[in-house]
Amino acid sequence: MEHQDKAVKDQIDEMIKQGILEVIGDAVSIQGTDFRVLYQNQAHRKLIGDHLGEYCYKVYECRDEVCEGCPVDMAFKDGMSHTTERSAATERGILHVEITASPIRDSSGKIIAGIEVARDITEHKRTDELLKRAATEWQHTFDSISDFVSVHDKDFRCTKVNKALADFKGIKPEDLVGEHCYKIFHGTQGKWPECPLDKMLKSKRTETVEIDDPHIGRPLLVTVSPILDDKGEVTGGVHIARDITEQKKMEKRLKVMDWAIKSSTNAMVLADLEANLTYVNPVFLKLWGYESEDEVLGMHCTKFWQVKDKSTEIVEALRNKGEWAGERGALRKDGSAFIVELSANMVRDDEGKPICMMASLVDITEKKKLEEQLRQAQKMEAVGQLAGGVAHDFNNILSAIIGYGHVTLLKMANDDPLRLNIEHMLEATDKASYLTQSLLAFSRKQITDKKPVGLNGIIKRVEKFLLRIMGEDIKVRTMLSEEALKVLADSGQLEQVLINLATNARDALPKGGTFTIATEKSRIDNEFIRAHGYGSPGRYALITVTDNGTGMNENTKQKIFEPFFTTKEPGKGTGLGLSIVYGIIKQHEGYINVYSEPGAGTIFRIYLPLIAEDIQSEGMTSKTEYPQRGSEVILLAEDDESLRQLTKSVLDEFGYKVIEAADGEDAVSKFLEHKDIIELFLSDLIMPKKSGKAAFDEIRKIKSGIRAIFISGYTADIIQQKGLLEKEMTLIFKPVSPIDLLKKIREELDKK
Ligand code: ADP
Ligand code: MG
Repeated sequence: MEHQDKAVKDQIDEMIKQGILEVIGDAVSIQGTDFRVLYQNQAHRKLIGDHLGEYCYKVYECRDEVCEGCPVDMAFKDGMSHTTERSAATERGILHVEITASPIRDSSGKIIAGIEVARDITEHKRTDELLKRAATEWQHTFDSISDFVSVHDKDFRCTKVNKALADFKGIKPEDLVGEHCYKIFHGTQGKWPECPLDKMLKSKRTETVEIDDPHIGRPLLVTVSPILDDKGEVTGGVHIARDITEQKKMEKRLKVMDWAIKSSTNAMVLADLEANLTYVNPVFLKLWGYESEDEVLGMHCTKFWQVKDKSTEIVEALRNKGEWAGERGALRKDGSAFIVELSANMVRDDEGKPICMMASLVDITEKKKLEEQLRQAQKMEAVGQLAGGVAHDFNNILSAIIGYGHVTLLKMANDDPLRLNIEHMLEATDKASYLTQSLLAFSRKQITDKKPVGLNGIIKRVEKFLLRIMGEDIKVRTMLSEEALKVLADSGQLEQVLINLATNARDALPKGGTFTIATEKSRIDNEFIRAHGYGSPGRYALITVTDNGTGMNENTKQKIFEPFFTTKEPGKGTGLGLSIVYGIIKQHEGYINVYSEPGAGTIFRIYLPLIAEDIQSEGMTSKTEYPQRGSEVILLAEDDESLRQLTKSVLDEFGYKVIEAADGEDAVSKFLEHKDIIELFLSDLIMPKKSGKAAFDEIRKIKSGIRAIFISGYTADIIQQKGLLEKEMTLIFKPVSPIDLLKKIREELDKK
């Protein structure tokens, strides 16, 4: 041992002497076979500290004994060089060193010591660690991207893929590396025609493409960005594919919703929480008269309403209650107004947070107008019923008064001082009778005598009369159609219509003016019906009656057809003129409407259904003559005692002989008793036990050729409807003036 030590020492001393070990920049130490440090050069001392004589393993982390992997130990054992990393606790802290140990042999080749070269790798190690950590972190980052990320070289080969893509393909990332991208994504053997990588390689810029390849099974948004080398050359590309299934679904939904809202027949509006418009559909633009969305978006919703306060009220309601529904007056761009039905609500997100406001609107101007028209028509109908009912009953009372009045007069001596009273009374009944007739006309219970007539002819005839009514200051003009206008009408009643309209025009033209009657052919079509809310389609004669007088306001216009509505001072207007006109036109299955504005005159339009039949010329009704007397025997059937008495006294007065019957049955039995002498059956139509007609049917069987006259308080319409009479039978209506009655009786008896 001594000997060996000596030899070793000598050898080492020799090396030291030669200075070889000192000039080596590396840290070098020599260990004896017992692992004691025999030598340290300066660099070694500086690096690890002075450890001469110590066991070398004490220096490093092995501490107390030779540890496994000790390079010195290994060099001793196999005589080769070994390199290992070790750490050493030094004054400067933990040091990482790379140790290379080699054996030193004597001349006989025996290992006598070990030489260790230590290199400080602390810095290197730290950098290495940092790099390693960075690489791992990068991998984690890369893998945590939910988009499919892959890196490709210029040959479309995949050099890197992230976990998302590998998971999607169900293949390990390393197995995808080296594959062509077209194979991975599209399953093809060649380039995909729309390949964004290909595009990028050509443009050298980031390219974005939406791909919907059934092979992938979901829509992808692919972005490929170039990877550049130091010289700026493209070496490959980063391929990021995003699954846009949800986005596409949402887009589709939004599109469908957009289409739906756009095609809605309602106007649809969205507004932000400040009530500024953010969306409007085409119906909204059309309704409010705007050209494009740009004009209205951003505008505050109050701008679209007639009354600003009322619209802020809606906004408040939406904020407080979340919804509002009702009607509002809206204002178009051009300032015109219309009415809309609006239903609005606050739009909230899934958490219930208000997002925006939404409203759906419908133009109900037309509907409102129609409703109003219907209401008006129903009102007229109700008033008509009432007026008609009263007039009908009142007529019977009036018949009694008129009848007794006349009878009394007939019986009075010509110089009787009371005659005048009766005459005044009868004058008054004339007025009362006119009144009831007017009401009956309005309520369409007047008897009409409709025949095919030429409208122009009637107007020409009545024109002369109108000239007289209108006076000198009013110009009367007629503009009649060249073609004949044939209508089924009671010409007397049409004359009445024109006279009533003319009288009103005269009153509306206190300072004179023009009154025009024009006729033309017209047509009522669906358009007309929609606009007016009434009418049945067909061809009509249109009479337009115009004056340039005072005109009337909306309120007056609404009421003019109502009976007793007048704006004229007491004594001047009765308020019956237009209600008669209305009744007559309705009874002719026609329509009348009025257009008027204060100061702008008035236009009445009357539509009467046209017919094709030949026209019968029709004159104005002739004046009455005094009735002739008679001597025939008349069977008078009337259940109303007072009326019967009245009629009997009239007939008596004029020479007739009267047999009375109190009802239908009584009439038949009375006829049987006196069948040989009775020449006329004068009967109320409606009676207890047996109607006048039923009684007459029996009487006719007893004596054919017997004449009859029926009296009724009912309108011709009702009688025909109930099938009470045959066409050729003579019918007169209550109240009957005795003169008319006597005339009819004479006519009937003379027919024989
Ligand atoms: P009267 O003439 O007795 O008042 P009408 O029924 O004939 O009754 O008319 C009712 C109201 O209609 C009139 O009081 C008037 O206010 C209005 N009117 C009718 N025709 C015209 C017209 N041509 N110009 C202006 N107002 C009219
Ligand atoms: Mg009038």
